[in-house]
Amino acid sequence: MKALVIGGAGYIGSHVVLYLCDRGIEVTVFDNLSTGKQENLDERALFVRGDILVETDLEQAFKDGNFDIVLHFAALKSPEESMLFPMRYAKNNLTGSLNILNTMLKFDVRNIVFSSSCAVYGESRYIPIDEKHPLEPINYYGYTKLAIEENLAWYARLGKINYAALRYFNAAGYDLDGRLRGREPQPTNLLPIIMETASGERSSMEVFGTDYATDDGSCIRDYIHVNDLARAHFQALEYIMAGEKPLVTNLATGRGYSVLQVIESAVKITGRTIAYDCTERRKGDPAVVIAGTERAFEALGWQARYSDIETILKSMWKVYGN
Ligand code: UDP
Repeated sequence: MKALVIGGAGYIGSHVVLYLCDRGIEVTVFDNLSTGKQENLDERALFVRGDILVETDLEQAFKDGNFDIVLHFAALKSPEESMLFPMRYAKNNLTGSLNILNTMLKFDVRNIVFSSSCAVYGESRYIPIDEKHPLEPINYYGYTKLAIEENLAWYARLGKINYAALRYFNAAGYDLDGRLRGREPQPTNLLPIIMETASGERSSMEVFGTDYATDDGSCIRDYIHVNDLARAHFQALEYIMAGEKPLVTNLATGRGYSVLQVIESAVKITGRTIAYDCTERRKGDPAVVIAGTERAFEALGWQARYSDIETILKSMWKVYGN
């Protein structure tokens, strides 16, 4: 089986490449290394440096590949940035994904696994958020993911492709065997910021809002270990290659931790003090995001194994703690 992993040098993509190579899949990574890292590249995979906005780059990669399936991770992912610079997101996420789809068809590659996001749901109307929840993104980033899902659905309906769209909740952690250590520069997500504070790279951090309607007043999220995500991609690949019908599913645990609970766990695991200030709410943050997980289990037999917060934080401390 031959897979083209677009964005395979990035955080989630590289963990998936590792998993696929471990399972004997022949992997080619396509990445422009804008946020992906050379150090994340797996030696067992071929690497093609290229940009999804340059059609000839894509064609070059597909030309000799004979790929059975594409896994597409290449996207910009900051909700805040997407509200300030929507054109960047329109170009990279929308145009880039359509370029990929159209190049697939040109080279008769009919299967794709797409990285979607819980951002497609917007404000939660009910908890847990299952796949039937209304799709009303509240930032442009989430809209781009939804628009790509809709295009995938149309291409499938027109008999052109088969696909799985995987809606990640809060991806976190590092490879449990310590094989990937590429750190994101200037992270905006909670867990890397906690790690940087514990390691002393930051003197303190902010907790955005402690007046939410939750037990301790801080926001609750559903954190999913990146090794669990990697296994889900492999299972989705097998599902799609078996000719099952298109799949749109959440990937999450169905359990949530508050910001203050995560900090408390991190203090225990790292043995460090983590100074924080309780500040204003961050714009656009829902109080509670917890996923329904039944569909992934029913369709793929997948459920999280390594996503308790202690395991996630321990795997991160191996990277940040020295
Ligand atoms: N958060 C925080 N301080 C930070 C970064 C994040 O309190 O420095 C909070 C944020 O307000 C949210 C939660 O942590 O409630 C998770 O945020 P993150 O950006 O990691 O993911 P999101 O759920 O926004 O996709």
